[in-house]
Amino acid sequence: MPAMIKHVAALPAAPARAKLLEAGLRPTRQRVDLAKILFNGEDRHFTAEMIHTESRTVRHPPSLATVYNTLHLFAEHGLLREIAIYGAKAWYDTKTGPHFHFYRGDREELFDIPDAMVPLLNIAAPEGTVIEAIDVVVRLKGV
Ligand SMILES: [Zn+2]
Repeated sequence: MPAMIKHVAALPAAPARAKLLEAGLRPTRQRVDLAKILFNGEDRHFTAEMIHTESRTVRHPPSLATVYNTLHLFAEHGLLREIAIYGAKAWYDTKTGPHFHFYRGDREELFDIPDAMVPLLNIAAPEGTVIEAIDVVVRLKGV
């Protein structure tokens, strides 16, 4: 699990602002605050609730609804990947390319399956279609 950021306000705003502009988003204060939390140089997996908790350290903490909307917006603009897991909350990933995940529901953890463990899937697309991406979530539970 990534360490919680204690002093988000101390992180530089310029890279976050640039990232938003590059994605075609107006860099409002709340978007910049959230981008600073999300894009800290490490790939991360999270739910809106986790980010809402972390964002309590900023000067004007966003509401949970704002966090939901902003994460959804960031995903629409390609800054995040939304990962739907049956029976779980929506997860987001800062690594946006296709890759496989482990999901541990009993601990609410989502993390990448190392590429070396991923089998080559030879799946034929039905006629008239092409495979856009293959997303696999392997569910785990403790023993
Ligand atoms: Zn991932």
